[in-house]
Amino acid sequence: MIPAVVVAIDGPSASGKSTVARRVAERLPDFVYVDSGALYRLVTVAAMQAGVAPEDGPVVRRFLDALPLEYIVRDRVVVYRVGGREAGPELRTQAVNENVSLFAALAPVRERVVGWLRGLTRFGSLVMEGRDIGEVVFPGAACKFYLNASPEERARRRHRELEGRVAPDDGGLRQVDESLRRRDRIDSGRAVAPLRIPAGSAVIDSTGLTIDQVVEVVLLQVRQVPGLVSNG
Ligand code: C5P
Repeated sequence: MIPAVVVAIDGPSASGKSTVARRVAERLPDFVYVDSGALYRLVTVAAMQAGVAPEDGPVVRRFLDALPLEYIVRDRVVVYRVGGREAGPELRTQAVNENVSLFAALAPVRERVVGWLRGLTRFGSLVMEGRDIGEVVFPGAACKFYLNASPEERARRRHRELEGRVAPDDGGLRQVDESLRRRDRIDSGRAVAPLRIPAGSAVIDSTGLTIDQVVEVVLLQVRQVPGLVSNG
């Protein structure tokens, strides 16, 4: 059996990593795309529905033990299910945006999610995006990238992305933007696996680059991995 190859793409929100990671996976035959943030979001949704508070350590552990999580791969994308139900738009509500970093900062949550993410190599080679993939989840990844952009560019991207998508009860663009900044602050400042540039990763500043240009930079490096063939 050919060993799984992992391409790790980390970076803060609005760095472009999700779109880049998805497109890179599409261009590499047999690679599966993994959105690790969606798993932290899923834990958050399920915890909130169960009335579990992030402060309550033992309850959080019991809740994680009992979480009926499953994965499937569809069109080379890992899709998560809880209790047979596929996770969808409920992962991206403002309430989840507000709470996900609080749950993601908890050691028991990180332990579990890291274990689940490592287990995904059973599906084969992966392009996985997140905050700690090259540092913690797969420190031995074949290729590691850290995507960033200037704060101004990231703010512009957030606004472009949010325009027309922000519901009135989300409190408007400014509040959503502030909650993203808060999330970045918590993710960078937490004690366990804070967001940082993983050792050995290529840093790509995507300010002024198109998504396609970033994808090409990533693919150029991935294609240097011995034994890896791409369909272009
Ligand atoms: O990528 P996304 O913005 O959907 O991630 C949501 C949250 O999940 C992040 O703000 C962070 O708190 C957490 N996360 C993490 N480690 C990862 C991926 C996401 O802590 N590898």
